[in-house]
Amino acid sequence: MALLDTAAVAVPLGGPELPQERRLVTELPGPRSAEILARKADAVAAGVGHTVPVATVAAGGGVVVDADGNSLIDLGSGIAVTTVGNAHPKVAAAVAAQAAQFTHTCFMISPYESYIEVAEALNRVTPGDFAKKSALFNSGAEAVENAIKIARKHTGRQAVVAFDHGYHGRTNLTMALTAKSMPYKSGFGPFAPEVYRAPMSYPFRDGLDGREAAARVILQLEKQIGADNLAAVIIEPIQGEGGFIVPADGFLPAIVDWCRANGVVFIADEVQTGFARTGHMFASEIFGIEPDLITTAKGIAGGLPLAAVTGRAEIMDASHSGGLGGTYGGNPIACAAALAAIDVFENDGVIERAREIGTILIDRLTTMQKNDPRVGDVRGHGAMIAAEFVDPETKAPNAALTAAVAKACIAQGVIVLTCGTYGNVIRFLPPLSIGDDLLNEGLDIVAAALAAAE
Ligand SMILES: *Cc1c(COP(=O)(O)O)cnc(C)c1O
Repeated sequence: MALLDTAAVAVPLGGPELPQERRLVTELPGPRSAEILARKADAVAAGVGHTVPVATVAAGGGVVVDADGNSLIDLGSGIAVTTVGNAHPKVAAAVAAQAAQFTHTCFMISPYESYIEVAEALNRVTPGDFAKKSALFNSGAEAVENAIKIARKHTGRQAVVAFDHGYHGRTNLTMALTAKSMPYKSGFGPFAPEVYRAPMSYPFRDGLDGREAAARVILQLEKQIGADNLAAVIIEPIQGEGGFIVPADGFLPAIVDWCRANGVVFIADEVQTGFARTGHMFASEIFGIEPDLITTAKGIAGGLPLAAVTGRAEIMDASHSGGLGGTYGGNPIACAAALAAIDVFENDGVIERAREIGTILIDRLTTMQKNDPRVGDVRGHGAMIAAEFVDPETKAPNAALTAAVAKACIAQGVIVLTCGTYGNVIRFLPPLSIGDDLLNEGLDIVAAALAAAE
């Protein structure tokens, strides 16, 4: 098949200089995107789906621009990744400079300073005023796998507890940890053994306070597993894919206390919630907890693939030399990007920006909720906010409405993502580089799509 004539349409550079506007010059997908997506269908495995029917050519600020020149408002950040903004100038410059210097040595063969600097930065910015160490990997799932390896080695125990609605990745061990069958697990088993599931605190649906919900968990751990067999408890402080579920106050601290009293490693999976997303550097801070280990990825490096496990030095050091690592883990270009992104997180006011965005999102969505009882719950922190759609009488999840609203938004040039065990949640994760006007315009479209949906 002939390559597209890319000279025909000027491809803009990305980053914050892109015109910050919603602009539809074709229906979606336009002809050029349609042609590229047809090639996707021919060349790419069917299991790799996509949400927005466009071929991206540039992104930045609060927009994604496609091959036909459509400019879409981005309320998803490529799943909470481009928190500092797509093609952020500091990240792009750091990547270009490092790519011209060296692209790889393998940190386990001949180490380099930027990996160590990322580890030092992570040890400093993560919650907990105790000695910490870090190890770097390529993806969130790989970080989670390694956190479990480390916890098992440290405790000499095998069992691991994850939660209802939890999401931890798509590799074999992380599929076992993930709760939802379709689409993440169905047909892909058998899954890793010694993984147990505990009930999450889900205030909108369980009506329990934090203490009650934690007591329910702890009873189950003691009776069904036994603390002596339990290496680790892993939980997202605010669940991501599972529906942006914010546990009741007191739930997480009670579980942390129980873990500490029983020698169980408490792992906070902050792959989605980390790095300013929730209006705090880490969501653990919201709940006043200091996890033993924290897994990070997504927002860490402005879009480059990087992940980490950070935690108590004595736990992190449990593994023998050579027991942790990987060919690409802590790749120098990804580390350069992470150092640039962490500089932005610490110095450019993005945590405050996440809170401002959160105020706008909560305001607009609670207004929609007042006018429409199908919006059952609005929840989240900072720039990680969701609306859960229900049957107003029974609170039964309304996945059809959710899908219809999301589809209508995307057709109007607003990228929104759904989530939730029941597929009835729309989550808002805009890049923190989005402006108020664009964010409000995106939410106008959401409100109109909701009003128009049957
Ligand atoms: C996305 C995600 C993962 C998996 O990260 P990948 O980089 O896709 O492997 C793990 N945990 C949480 C909480 C996530 O949101």
